[in-house]
Amino acid sequence: MADKSFPYSGFSSLAIHEGHLTDSNYAHLTPIYATSSFVYDNAEQGMRRFSGQEQGYIYSRWGNPTYREAEEKIIAMETFGIAGAHGEPLALKAYLQSSGMAAISTLMMSTLKVGDKVLSHYSLYGGTQEQFNTLLPTFGVDAIIADLRDLNLAEDMLKQHPEIKLIYLETPANPTIQCVDIEALTKLGKQYGKLIACDNTFATPYLQQPFKYGVDYVVHSTTKFLNGHGTAIGGIFIGRDREDTKARTYKIFKALGGSSSPFDAFLLVNGMKTLEVRMERHCSNAEKVAAFLNNHNAVASVNYNGLSSHPDYAVAQKQMRHPGAMMSFELKGGLQSGINFMNKLQLCTRTVSLGTCDTLLSHPASMTHYSVPKEQRERYGITDGLIRMSVGMENVEDILNDLDQALR
Ligand SMILES: *Cc1c(COP(=O)(O)O)cnc(C)c1O
Repeated sequence: MADKSFPYSGFSSLAIHEGHLTDSNYAHLTPIYATSSFVYDNAEQGMRRFSGQEQGYIYSRWGNPTYREAEEKIIAMETFGIAGAHGEPLALKAYLQSSGMAAISTLMMSTLKVGDKVLSHYSLYGGTQEQFNTLLPTFGVDAIIADLRDLNLAEDMLKQHPEIKLIYLETPANPTIQCVDIEALTKLGKQYGKLIACDNTFATPYLQQPFKYGVDYVVHSTTKFLNGHGTAIGGIFIGRDREDTKARTYKIFKALGGSSSPFDAFLLVNGMKTLEVRMERHCSNAEKVAAFLNNHNAVASVNYNGLSSHPDYAVAQKQMRHPGAMMSFELKGGLQSGINFMNKLQLCTRTVSLGTCDTLLSHPASMTHYSVPKEQRERYGITDGLIRMSVGMENVEDILNDLDQALR
């Protein structure tokens, strides 16, 4: 392990070394601590652990050394190169979870109570949308959904609904790769005394660091680019190291019961070590794929942040290191052309999800959004011929060749 004071000059060094502690048996990698509980030398030690007088693990739903390495790595990545308002290091707390949805549940349950409202925008991850539409209202919490790319509208909403407690952002978002301005919305939200959370799954901390703009919380589905290999479902809640995060959120996290598993945490830790090199390849491939699709005569339009035609191009340029590896495109010819295209793919993988080594394509109208009425999904930009793509790390010529033959 690198010395604590070692000044990492780059992201990969930190992703590889940060969070690793010397193991008592000198194992090179942090072992999979497959244990439900941790023991005490005597009753007094048990007492000290439970009262918080002594640091130490108690029960794996509350914390585990394998989760810890993942939590510390993600904190290090989310804060790399960022300082607090007075130059102090940014202190965060993180809780590794069994899924992205578990992390989002921890966020909602620990920040909202009956009568509160949450302000968010269109085009969110399906599970999040489901929480806003059907789950939270049964607990007396309503979501207000507005186009938060319009800052005047966002301010109107804050004025009209003083019950808003939390502003929830997801950027870039599914499937049209919409972006919202984290800095501007955080500044506005703070003027009105609101909490701000950001789902940073699509970008990863390598491409975007929401804490830089003053948000209170970040959530991730680690299932995607952070794990990077599609080997485990996982999520993480990260909050500023404040009383609310340490006391209330930790309590809710333990009580909801959505903690990770040591095996999944191990896969995540090792996946994240290569995040920078993977993202570089994902991103450079994505740029070439976007340019290719944009010039293809079977394609009506391409949604990619890196194309100046995308309505959120400027926002993406401002807050992301690179526009990323997610895009969607509209085929000429609607539903049947979407189905035909998907069936002809030979190299690329037909699946939902994102962020794995291989290129993944899905056709929302016939898959994830098959049961959503056409008018409703079209309001979210999910048209019949829309294809969503997570550009992988294959040699780009192979991706382009496969797309080309499938588009014919
Ligand atoms: C996948 C995803 C989630 C949910 O994560 P799970 O790990 O599937 O529970 C949340 N937000 C975004 C943006 C996602 O892509």
